[in-house]
Amino acid sequence: MTDTARKATPAIEHREPVWGYAPAPESTGIVRLEDRYGLFVNGGFVEPKSGKWFTTINPATEEPLAEVAEAGPEDVGLAVDAARDAYERRWRSLPGSERAKYLYRIARQLQERAREFAVLESMNGGKPIKESRDIDLPLAAAHFFYYAGWADKLEYAFPGRTPSPIGVAGQIIPWNFPMLMAAWKLAPALATGNTAVLKPAETTPLTALLLAQVIQEAEVPPGVVNIVTGAGETGAALVKSSVDKVAFTGSTEVGKIIRRTIAGSGKRLTLELGGKAANIVFEDAPLDQAIEGVVNGIFFNQGHVCCAGSRLLVQEPVFDVLIDKLKERLQTLRVGDPLDKNTDVGAINSRVQLQKIEELVASGIQEGAQMYQPECVLPERGFWFRPTLFTGVSQSHRIAREEIFGPVLSILTFRTPEEAVEKANNSPYGLSAGVWTEKGSRILWMAERLRAGVVWANTFNRFDPASPFGGYKESGFGREGGLQGLEPYLRLDGGAA
Ligand code: NAP
Ligand code: MG
Repeated sequence: MTDTARKATPAIEHREPVWGYAPAPESTGIVRLEDRYGLFVNGGFVEPKSGKWFTTINPATEEPLAEVAEAGPEDVGLAVDAARDAYERRWRSLPGSERAKYLYRIARQLQERAREFAVLESMNGGKPIKESRDIDLPLAAAHFFYYAGWADKLEYAFPGRTPSPIGVAGQIIPWNFPMLMAAWKLAPALATGNTAVLKPAETTPLTALLLAQVIQEAEVPPGVVNIVTGAGETGAALVKSSVDKVAFTGSTEVGKIIRRTIAGSGKRLTLELGGKAANIVFEDAPLDQAIEGVVNGIFFNQGHVCCAGSRLLVQEPVFDVLIDKLKERLQTLRVGDPLDKNTDVGAINSRVQLQKIEELVASGIQEGAQMYQPECVLPERGFWFRPTLFTGVSQSHRIAREEIFGPVLSILTFRTPEEAVEKANNSPYGLSAGVWTEKGSRILWMAERLRAGVVWANTFNRFDPASPFGGYKESGFGREGGLQGLEPYLRLDGGAA
């Protein structure tokens, strides 16, 4: 060994190893953005009669991505007319096996172009690429495949009844899962013989417009799917138009407005609204596994998830150990560039949503709960919020009652299973719940008592097109997914549409 080497060795031995992730950005080269996107009406892209356009941005950088048309009431009316015409002249009388053909084409195109869609979804919405790539897009394609399968079997789905379509569906979706929500809405509507006018959220219109291109390439008859972009007023115009059914996913507040608006009109309605799910950890739960479920439950998609496990209920004997483990785990979450394949928590979807999160978090501090945030460096531009925990939360705190729709977890404790049920159900919402325990009998006991549309046991945020999803109470009514997801788009009394 040379002198230099001998000298160098101790220095290397004493250096603390620094383990980090090298940047692993997904290329955006696969996405071809247009400067401007018109409305998708009657099979083609058209300029809005309103003459209005708005800019859609990347929430991680605040950079503009494209100009998008803002549909006014006249534009919405034209889209509904196109859908009506397509319904009456072509779609409703097409055999189910023919309708399925188009749905299978869309599904296959989504699979083939999955990377392009996933990158665009992350650019426009701020969600980590590993989620848009591994969850949003595969599930969206799976939804089209699943409902394509039902299209020619409706009479077997509802034996002894005569299912027939309803007509034109007006469908309004939020920004948290733009492509997946479009698939949840369009696939069952088309499979059952309805035509549709879809209104994506203002902040995330781009993947729906890419889907419009796929629909064109799949040669779906013009007018069967129409996509009208815009903000809340466009949605309100769609609700007031001559559609036969409104399918809405969004906030409870807007859901109530819609229900009032269409009361007495004879229009059919399904509402998929907000949530404040309890994720309940019993003392006998496998704690490390539960920690992963808790983290997934609230930090998946920055907590912009209607069924997020935003209230953690921990049985008292394991509270201290669970909190320590959870804090340690939060330190390892990678917050940042949504297009980096290592990113766990991406950008908040919009400035408005960031302000809403900040306001509720400030109320938590003010009402006396204790906040914990891991150290992490946030990018300078764009909309960001650190993963956040609150302990010392009481049931009356706003952070325990209101939907934050961000990466913020409110933690409460309980002693007995009865108390866990009582606390979990003490909410105006009832969309989902999670139970962590080793005991199978306890899982069933809890599932029977929890007033939630979905109860996950020893897992969280699992979705499958064959499994129905929907709420109780102020989380809405109607089910999406599964056989149950066909029903809101059908008349089952045999009456002609
Ligand atoms: P939101 O404000 O209710 O918006 C949902 C959709 O409705 C958007 O397309 C929105 O347009 C449109 N809209 C707004 N005002 C309207 C009006 N007066 N009439 C008709 N349409 C109107 O909800 P958000 O803040 O975007 O989304 C978050 C909420 O959705 C959360 O509460 C969450 O729990 C809920 N959500 C529920 C589910 C579920 O399946 N249960 C799934 C996802 C999200 P603009 O965005 O362009 O304003
Ligand atoms: Mg909104």
